[in-house]
Amino acid sequence: MNAFPPVGAHLIAGDWVTEGAAGTSLSLNPAHPDEPVGDYPIGDAGTASDAVGAAVEARPSWRSLPFGARARILEQAARLFDERADDLALLCTLEEGKTLAESHGEATLAAETFRYQAAIAKMSSERIFPNNVPGETIRTVRVPLGVVGVITPWNFPLLIPVWKLAPALAAGNTVVWKPASDTPLLSVAIARLLVDAGLPDGVLNLVLGPGSMGGAMVADERVDGVTFTGSVPVGQRIRDVVTARNGRVQLELGGHNPCIVFDDADLDLAVAGAVGGAMGATGQKCTATRRVIAVGNVHDELLEQMAAAVEVLQVGDGREDGTEIGPLVSAGARTEVAEAVDVALAEGAEAIVVNSTAPDGPCYYAPTLFSGTPDLTICRDEVFGPVSTVVRADSEDEAFALANDTEFGLSASIFTNDLWRIDRAVHELEAGLIKVNAPTTGSEIHAPFGGEKNSSGHAAREQGDTALDFFTRTRTAYIRPGTRR
Ligand code: NDP
Repeated sequence: MNAFPPVGAHLIAGDWVTEGAAGTSLSLNPAHPDEPVGDYPIGDAGTASDAVGAAVEARPSWRSLPFGARARILEQAARLFDERADDLALLCTLEEGKTLAESHGEATLAAETFRYQAAIAKMSSERIFPNNVPGETIRTVRVPLGVVGVITPWNFPLLIPVWKLAPALAAGNTVVWKPASDTPLLSVAIARLLVDAGLPDGVLNLVLGPGSMGGAMVADERVDGVTFTGSVPVGQRIRDVVTARNGRVQLELGGHNPCIVFDDADLDLAVAGAVGGAMGATGQKCTATRRVIAVGNVHDELLEQMAAAVEVLQVGDGREDGTEIGPLVSAGARTEVAEAVDVALAEGAEAIVVNSTAPDGPCYYAPTLFSGTPDLTICRDEVFGPVSTVVRADSEDEAFALANDTEFGLSASIFTNDLWRIDRAVHELEAGLIKVNAPTTGSEIHAPFGGEKNSSGHAAREQGDTALDFFTRTRTAYIRPGTRR
């Protein structure tokens, strides 16, 4: 990285723009909010419009570049990701708060995603069909979607942008990227890396600023498609705006992910999976385990062992050795979690354990394990923090019904050694990701990722080779040989 932390700036048409049309703001370290990481310019609707204009201009030359040349730039981006992994991980921890180990994990997967999508770009996705007309060939080709708007959240600030940027760029699209306001400098570092990898001017444009600036971008008729990860209300608003002008939209939204534990399960595995799934990344994962459904006899022992595991988690500054749980991303996020916990207590949830290792600071929140009933608000609404609730089910049927009793459908896990139950889970749990004897969290970059119900939109899955489906249009060509002279 040229400078650490990087100088906050928009990237528009290849120029780094440090002036903010709406002023400047500070990026804060949630472990020490009194020690800002750096400042960055705040853009407005005009900034978004300039960036879209740059993406429109760069589109013809980028899409006509041979796919191999585009792939080579992504491969170079992967190499730079590996080279800069320490700096990127540190910046991720400084801005987002997660532990250095978690940040390193993200950097590794981000590099891997660039490498994988570069390889996918080199594979033919054309198809040939038989035809009733002698000599005529029917062939499908994929063309780039066009100008793509990318809007990303702060909780996986290295990886989620790359999930979107890598296939979008590989497929020949130009991009306007609006990252979350809590992690602006990390997005500058990623954009700089892509420029250093050889991305031509205007192919990737980065605009820093508030949600309203993102709103202006998605409303822009010149933006052919928008891929968004974030909260349900914002995602639904974006969907309405983009589909109203017949644009394409991809949404990855919230979750309320169940983990069912049966009495034939390996209990050590189940405890580690349920606690890790709930508390990892300070519970700020869309796939985090929000409800643990303990079936029958396993309930009491599971609760006891989970409580013991939550109690000894080490909360602290993500940079320090031994820290397992960092702070929440901001004081505002902490307030939201604390309010949800107050509601749970008022509704009769029993706090089985409240971890006591968190240092003082406005963004720290003590990992908390509740025992409760499925009707609690905390068992229905997503609480984006280190809070999980164990509920009891008396039978397999009840456990499956409880697991599916949610508006969300992102991930679900089941701990059992019974093959029939496993097969039932794969077919009957209403979630895009089903994990067996593993936490609700975690996914591989070469397999499709996405949810059902209110957790996702209806566009193609992210990641894997399905990622290309959103970022391309399919054309069907009927080719006749003509008349021989
Ligand atoms: P938000 O929806 O608040 O923000 C996401 C992004 O949208 C940010 O860049 C934000 O900008 C931007 N934004 C806000 N308002 C608008 C608007 N009106 N128009 C366009 N863009 C806008 O979500 P959070 O950042 O709070 O992220 C947490 C949420 O993301 C959780 O619900 C979580 O479950 C979900 N998530 C889902 C994942 C999945 O794959 N399904 C993965 C990870 C998270 P700004 O920061 O400036 O407000």
